[in-house]
Amino acid sequence: MTPHRTPHPTKIRSPRGATVTEIDWSDGKTTRYAHRTLRGLCPCAQCQGHDRGIRWVEAVERASNLMLEVKDLEQVGNYAVGLSWGDGHSGGIYTFEYLRELAELFERDLDQLRAWRPRA
Ligand SMILES: [Zn+2]
Repeated sequence: MTPHRTPHPTKIRSPRGATVTEIDWSDGKTTRYAHRTLRGLCPCAQCQGHDRGIRWVEAVERASNLMLEVKDLEQVGNYAVGLSWGDGHSGGIYTFEYLRELAELFERDLDQLRAWRPRA
């Protein structure tokens, strides 16, 4: 087997009350994420169902910044980050690969978020 080459986060900045989280990666990149985008593309089964692939969660557009606060953030194994939200939602496991894909969505508008599909 070839070694797993996906870069991993070396530092995650998500201050209380922030609406953006920043990640520094082992390959030297820094990526930024609007919380609304992260929450709207939560990959968990509750948000996404089981077989339709990743879709924008429409309800997130009506969520307040308080509901979209990142309450807790934990590394899952050596492949992902788990996020818990101000609205009480948790269970979304964001793999490092998925986070790298989501990085391209910073400052995209709603129509672009709705149309976006992950490559993986
Ligand atoms: Zn979810």
